[in-house]
Amino acid sequence: MIADIQKNSTSAIIIACPMCNSSMVIQNPIKVGTIYECQKCASESEVVDLDPLTITPIEEEK
Ligand SMILES: [Zn+2]
Repeated sequence: MIADIQKNSTSAIIIACPMCNSSMVIQNPIKVGTIYECQKCASESEVVDLDPLTITPIEEEK
């Protein structure tokens, strides 16, 4: 899943949550493996690629 990327500034990037599509602001530097939590739906997404910036939701195994 490829995130919808909008470059807001050099220090922050707005991405769309892959679960609820709400905007999440993430700060540079972005690294593969970094996990972000959506403040709307509380799902966690992991950065899996930087070019293009790709995030995937982390599926909890229960
Ligand atoms: Zn979300």
